Amino acid sequence: MDAKNASRAEQPPSECARCPGHCCYGRPGAVLLITARDINRLARHFGITDQEVRRRYLKNRYTFKVGTDHACVFLATDRSSQRCTVYAARPDQCRRFPYGRPCPYLTRDHGKPS
Ligand code: SF4
Ligand code: SF4
Repeated sequence: MDAKNASRAEQPPSECARCPGHCCYGRPGAVLLITARDINRLARHFGITDQEVRRRYLKNRYTFKVGTDHACVFLATDRSSQRCTVYAARPDQCRRFPYGRPCPYLTRDHGKPS
């Protein structure tokens, strides 16, 4: 991907403003892969060590913990707001999704898990 397209892919689609954040829920077949760079970005964001980020927020070596509703540990899910609480320090995969294409969660039936 060239720089121009990479930049475009990191822009959130306009649909995100009206979406409850379907992509922030762990679903069968969907995996949020966390890299060492993502860990370090979060560590700097919180002012803690990489090791502490792993201890607090990772479910295993590769992905974040999720709540009982499968929401990412960083998704604020109060009644009035569903948003990423670490938006400025979110992982690369979150920045890139849906990779400059129409969001698949809005083109198929991807309701929240019950
Ligand atoms: S599911 Fe799609 S439209 Fe909704 S917040 Fe995620 S990327 Fe945006
Ligand atoms: S880090 Fe933020 S954008 Fe990424 S899945 Fe979690 S809540 Fe969503």
